[in-house]
Amino acid sequence: MIQIQNFVFNPFMENTYVLYDETNEAIIIDPGCYEDVEQRDLVEFIEDMNLKVVGLVNTHCHIDHVFGNAFISKKYNVGLQIHKEDEATLKSVEVYAPAYGFQGYHPVEAESFFEEGDQIKFGNSELDILFTPGHAPGHVVFFNKDQKICIGGDVLFDGSIGRTDLPGGDFDILIKSIHEKLFKLEDDVVVYPGHGGSTTIGKEKISNPFCAINQNS
Ligand SMILES: [Zn+2]
Repeated sequence: MIQIQNFVFNPFMENTYVLYDETNEAIIIDPGCYEDVEQRDLVEFIEDMNLKVVGLVNTHCHIDHVFGNAFISKKYNVGLQIHKEDEATLKSVEVYAPAYGFQGYHPVEAESFFEEGDQIKFGNSELDILFTPGHAPGHVVFFNKDQKICIGGDVLFDGSIGRTDLPGGDFDILIKSIHEKLFKLEDDVVVYPGHGGSTTIGKEKISNPFCAINQNS
């Protein structure tokens, strides 16, 4: 049984997720910890729960989702895994981070790449990877069918969608990802987004002003 622990980190109020199960093996998704106190909070939780971190993945590589990659990778000796199509997004962070005022960003390269159809495994658990570009060119979400949970990054939010005005963003592609990937999941699948609170596929299908499927009908 997968347990989900959420932290809200950095000035962008980004959701960092720790997923773990009864074996105490854990993965960290989008570590946004930037300040020392944020790093300490995350480490403290992992130590208190006696977790063994076995994986580090990003839904996509915008600055707010990758601040803590280098710290986590070094601390727990785990390589970063991302989608190949977001490698350029990752590499660009070190170029623009100082201009955003983040002098303390430490880049780390991806150790390996996954693609749709691959699975992320930890303990007795596994997550399917769905390719959901639009907000970023190599954006993915992590989905567990049995527990109906989806770690969704910045694709679909409670009442909103990811922005598409950043380099590599594309509104039409984002809407297509939502309709062809996320809205194909069952209505009671819970989406844990990169910002804000969780929502369900069913709720967003009905009421999301950007992509509800029955609007105007
Ligand atoms: Zn983003």
